[in-house]
Amino acid sequence: MKENILGIQVNTEGYAELLPRIFSYIEQKEKAMIVAINPEKVMKASKDQSLHDLLNRAEFQIPDGVGIIIASKLQKGKIRERVTGIDLMLRICEEAANQQKSIFLYGAKPGVADEAKSELEKRYPDINISGTLDGYEKDEQIIKQTINDAKPDILFVAMGSPRQELWIEENRDNLHPFVYQGVGGSFDVLAGNIERAPESFQKAGLEWLYRLLKEPSRIKRQMELPKFLVKIIKK
Ligand code: UDP
Repeated sequence: MKENILGIQVNTEGYAELLPRIFSYIEQKEKAMIVAINPEKVMKASKDQSLHDLLNRAEFQIPDGVGIIIASKLQKGKIRERVTGIDLMLRICEEAANQQKSIFLYGAKPGVADEAKSELEKRYPDINISGTLDGYEKDEQIIKQTINDAKPDILFVAMGSPRQELWIEENRDNLHPFVYQGVGGSFDVLAGNIERAPESFQKAGLEWLYRLLKEPSRIKRQMELPKFLVKIIKK
């Protein structure tokens, strides 16, 4: 089910319900894109009709960001569980290892996707990662061929938003994978280049605060959150 958050459709389900639905696309040989929705993206989309349409066309919009949960509560909606891009990616990897579905990692600086691959292989020994490619290759033909030659079922694209979503939509018809997820900086997190907030911050819904303390320049991005909540309350 989806819930409308200031014009963006967002899935109301948690990980357990989403996973089988995501994998059913592979079984049926159909394509699906997963996008992570947070208040910053909702605000951006409210000023950009083509981004708004692109996000709404995705098969799955996951409620990433505590702001989305707050918004849903305020409008008496159903979204109660945060589904983060990286945690969903890890669940998909775990399930892909179980079902022997193959994965390709595309994006981030040269070398990072390979480090992320090693880390995933450590965590899920049965995982099948059929290839990796950095996010700075310019030749579209090389990108397409490298991915298609590896014949993956699932493609994770780590190029930041909305670049990764635009790229997925533009290319998926000509690519082999069935499931596509835009995962932002997740390869950097797996490679150990970026630290995730301690679990205590995550549980308290304060991951944003931890990131702000570590990277004060994020304040500009984060100032969108109060504006977002004001819009929800006005509505
Ligand atoms: N990146 C890329 N190609 C580009 C620009 C960026 O692969 O042309 C990568 C960059 O190296 C980083 C990720 O995209 O790994 C950006 O992550 P960010 O944290 O900015 O994404 P967010 O989740 O905040 O959208």
